[in-house]
Amino acid sequence: MTASFHVPCLTAGKFHTVASAKTADVFNPSTGDVIAQVPLCNAAETAKVVSAASDAQAAWGTTSPVERARVMFRLRQLIERDFDELATVVTREHGKTMAESRAEIQRGLEMVEFACGIPNMLMGNTLANIAGTVDAETVRHPVGVSVGITPYNFPFMVPMWMIPVAITCGNAFVLKPSEKVPLSAVRIGELLMEAGLPAGVFSIVHGDKTCVDELLRHPDVAAVSFVGSTSIARSIYETGTRNGKRVQAAGGAKNHLIIMPDANLDQSVKAVAASAYGCAGQRCMAGSIAVAVGSVADSLVNQLCDHAATLCVGPTDGNEDVDMGPLIRREHRERVAGYLDIAQAEGADVTLDGRCETDPEGFLIGPCVVDRVQPEMRLAREEIFGPVLSVVRAENLEAALAIGRQCPFGNGASIFTQDGYAAREFKQHFNAGMIGINVSVPAPMAWFPFTGWNQSFFGDLHIQGAEGVQFYTRQKTTLTRWFRSIDESHQDPVWKSQ
Ligand code: NAD
Repeated sequence: MTASFHVPCLTAGKFHTVASAKTADVFNPSTGDVIAQVPLCNAAETAKVVSAASDAQAAWGTTSPVERARVMFRLRQLIERDFDELATVVTREHGKTMAESRAEIQRGLEMVEFACGIPNMLMGNTLANIAGTVDAETVRHPVGVSVGITPYNFPFMVPMWMIPVAITCGNAFVLKPSEKVPLSAVRIGELLMEAGLPAGVFSIVHGDKTCVDELLRHPDVAAVSFVGSTSIARSIYETGTRNGKRVQAAGGAKNHLIIMPDANLDQSVKAVAASAYGCAGQRCMAGSIAVAVGSVADSLVNQLCDHAATLCVGPTDGNEDVDMGPLIRREHRERVAGYLDIAQAEGADVTLDGRCETDPEGFLIGPCVVDRVQPEMRLAREEIFGPVLSVVRAENLEAALAIGRQCPFGNGASIFTQDGYAAREFKQHFNAGMIGINVSVPAPMAWFPFTGWNQSFFGDLHIQGAEGVQFYTRQKTTLTRWFRSIDESHQDPVWKSQ
C-alpha cells in the first residue's frame, strides 16, 4: 500500500473510488508514513450510498432469518481463514500490537457467532385467549436502513459490534468508519461480499462531519449506532433523535481501578498495567485512574513504575516483540504528553515519564504514572486516551466510591480485593455500568450488552447482546379473533352469544 492508494467506498455491492471527494491522509502510526488517501464524501456522495442501501432494504427485510444467519456462518469461516491478515491490517493502520489486533479480531468474530443464532433471538411472544377468543402475538420487524459511525480505536471490532446484528435482523447497513482507520472496514466489506451478502445490504461511506450530518439528516435512515468521544456522541444523539431516528451513542470514559489493601499486589499490578497500557491506553475500557486504598499506595506506585518500565515500547508493524505500540497520530501524542505538564502544574507527582522514550519516526510515548492526583484535577476528570495512569489515594472503600460518584463518565470500573464484602459493596454502589472484580478490563463479550452509564452512553438500548437485537428491530403486536363460519355451524356464532 502506498501514499497514493485511494480507499474505496462500497455502494450497491461495488467498490469504487470517489474522484470528486476531498481526501485525508491515512497513516501507519508505527512509522509515521502516509499509507493511503481516504475520501471525505460530501452530502450528495453520501446520499447516493444511502439510496442504494434503501433500495436493498425491502428484499433483505423479507429474506428468511435462517438465510440471513447463513451469511454469518459463511462469514465466520472467512474471518477464521484470514484471521492473521485481518490483524495485520488493524496493526498497520492503528498501531496496536499484533497480539492486541488478534484479540480484537476474536471479539469481532464472537459477534458473528452471536448473530448466527438470530432465528432464535427474533422469535416473538404469543398468548392464546388473552381476551375471550382473542389470541395475541408479537413479531420483530427490521427497523430499516441502519447506520454505524465508528471510532478509530477498534477498526475491526467496533464495526462488528453492529454489522452482524443489524444485518441478520433484516436491515441494510451503512458503515461510516473513522477516517483515521478506513482499511479494516474495506476488508469487512470484501468478506461480506464473499460470504454472499446481496448487493446493497452492506455499504461503506467515508467522511467526516459533513458525511455524518447527511447520514443523520437523510429521510431513509431509520437507526444510528455511534461509538466515539462523549461530545460527539451527545451531539449525534441529539441531532439524530431530533430527526426522528432511533439512536444509540456510546461515548468516552474515565475508568477507575480500586486496589484494596488486601489485594494480591503482584497480580493486581500486572492487571492495572495491562488495563492502563493495553492498546497504549486507547480503549474506552482502559483503567486510567488507580485508586489506592489505605496502606497499599506506596508499594503499588513503586511496583507499577517498576513493572511499566519493563514494557517494550516500539513500532508494532512487522514486529511481534513489542508490548506497547504508538498512539494514532502525532497531534494525539502531543496532547497526551501535554497532560504530564498539566499534572506538574496542578501539583501531582509524575513518577514515570514516558516522554523520554518517544521516537520521532512513529507516534510513540512510553507508559506514564502520575501519583498524588486529586479528584478535582484535570487528570482525574478528563479522558486522556493514552498510556497515562493517574494514582489517586483514598482512605477507605467509602472514599473510593465517593470518587466514582464525582465522575461524569460511567463506563467501567474494577476492584482488586480478596474481601467478598468489599467486592459486593463495590459492585452494588460504584457509579459505572460495567464492573470487574479482580478483572483488569471488564468489557462484556458479544452475548452481554455494553452497558455504559452517565456520559459514557446516550440512548436506551445498548450495543451487543439482546439489547442490540431490540435496537435493530421494532415489534408488531397482532390481536386475532376468528369467527366460526355460520354456514358450517349448527350453533350460533360465538360473537352472537357475547
Ligand atoms: P471521535 O468522536 O473523534 O470520532 C468517532 C466518529 O465520529 C468517527 O467516525 C469520526 O469521523 C466521527 N466524527 C468526528 N467528529 C465529528 C463531528 N464533529 N461530527 C460528526 N461526526 C464526527 O472518536 P475517536 O477519537 O475516533 O475515538 C476515541 C473515542 O471513542 C474515545 O473517547 C473513546 O472512549 C470512545 N470509545 C467509546 C467506546 C464505548 O463503547 N463507549 C468504545 C470505543 C471508543
